[in-house]
Amino acid sequence: MRIGHGYDAHRFASERQLVLGGVTIPDSDGLAAHSDGDVVIHALCDALLGAAALGDIGKLFPDSSEEFRDIDSRILLREVSKRLSAGDLSVSSVDISIVAQRPRLAPHIAAMVEALSSDLNLARDRLNVKATTTEGMGFTGRGEGIAVHAVVLLKE
Ligand code: MG
Repeated sequence: MRIGHGYDAHRFASERQLVLGGVTIPDSDGLAAHSDGDVVIHALCDALLGAAALGDIGKLFPDSSEEFRDIDSRILLREVSKRLSAGDLSVSSVDISIVAQRPRLAPHIAAMVEALSSDLNLARDRLNVKATTTEGMGFTGRGEGIAVHAVVLLKE
């Protein structure tokens, strides 16, 4: 088994759509980023790449590259998944924690699990997404942005 951890944070930006875990969340500011700003997928990719000792998402998909401007992060996740398979690694389990004061994410968790597990060819009951606030503390608590932690186990 190999374990990987990923962390990412993005600040809110108006006039962008909020996309988290492959799901478009209505009635919220989006997140500033070179890509679509899907901070959930970025943390997940970093956890997967970390477990596989393949570096990080910035190394694979540089934000200096026009190719990746506003890109759907699910394309990046599927590419990471392909690289794991090529290295004879399979995902055993995924656990994701979204840290956000707003918006309310509970109604969107099931759709995120569906999108992410499908991109990873993983059974739904092997991938968990949860959300928490920080009770008003810190940058997430002040509503400046969203942070995400992801932990994965890979099997060789
Ligand atoms: Mg990011």
